[in-house]
Amino acid sequence: MSLDRRKFLKFAMVTSSSLAAGSLSRASTGNESETALEHVGCLVDTTLCIGCRQCEKACNDRNQLPRPTESFTTKTVFRNERRHTEASFTVVNEFPGPPSPDQLQKKNTYVKFQCMHCLDPACVSGCITGALTKSRDGAVVYNPTVCIGCRYCLYACPFQVPDYEYDDPLTPRVRKCEYCTDLARGTGANPACAAACPTEAIVFGKREELLEMAHARIRQRPERYLDHIYGEHEIGGTGWLYLTGRPVTEVGMLKLPETSGPRLTENIQHTIFRYGAIPFGFYGALGALMWFNHRKERLNKEAGTEAAHHEDEGGSHGPSRD
Ligand code: SF4
Ligand code: SF4
Ligand code: SF4
Repeated sequence: MSLDRRKFLKFAMVTSSSLAAGSLSRASTGNESETALEHVGCLVDTTLCIGCRQCEKACNDRNQLPRPTESFTTKTVFRNERRHTEASFTVVNEFPGPPSPDQLQKKNTYVKFQCMHCLDPACVSGCITGALTKSRDGAVVYNPTVCIGCRYCLYACPFQVPDYEYDDPLTPRVRKCEYCTDLARGTGANPACAAACPTEAIVFGKREELLEMAHARIRQRPERYLDHIYGEHEIGGTGWLYLTGRPVTEVGMLKLPETSGPRLTENIQHTIFRYGAIPFGFYGALGALMWFNHRKERLNKEAGTEAAHHEDEGGSHGPSRD
């Protein structure tokens, strides 16, 4: 087998594997039909949050997470900006400055963070085994029995949400807010954090209704709210939505594009794979043509060299006319 043919077969194998991987990735995402149901969500009004951390405690209780070393009533935790962990699915952070221009009596702004339950979740798209899935009501949930611990979801999430139980050597899991899965979904019951919030800074409901509510608040109190609902469009839209009275980047949120990562990569992937037969056939034919041309050139060159060699031989050994 010539080197060129080996290379050609290798190319074909790699291409076939990529095609298979593309199909697998699309199959594991499986979101398009599942997002058809009305998406539930939570609206967080940061101008109402007082930093009491009752939501953190309720989440901890609801999910039977380990008790933190510092109690839920201490405010010293606000000294450093915290992130959620495998032992705390939600955290409230404090940012200096009033939450809105009409609340100058307040010294700080408090913002709760957790999984955003994206409409088009990159963690689900990145998970090669389907351990993370998007439920029909929009909750992004985790199945530890099929997780292989690759942690692609950790790298895929634009909000850096999923945490991993690195300290558990035997059965480590990916951990994050799952919307208090069975409590919230189908029953209309509030997630634990929303139920515990004394100021109604967290409202649970259908995403469309929450958006209407948020737009109404902005219309009614333009002096309080910025005309921007964080999560309405960011990264394709999220289940958790935020109303703020100051730029979101000042209160720990990331400025993100409107297109979700999965949508972007799927568009590219679909273009290649759905209509791939045409370019694949074209490049295959082109490759074959190049191989034959190269072979023909080589044979011609060899034939030319041989003829010249014979001529040289005839010239040096033949009789001289002189
Ligand atoms: S915030 Fe991250 S972990 Fe949560 S659904 Fe979106 S991509 Fe997944
Ligand atoms: S929805 Fe449930 S799991 Fe998520 S942050 Fe609130 S209490 Fe925790
Ligand atoms: S319970 Fe409500 S007011 Fe208290 S910190 Fe959480 S979101 Fe803020």
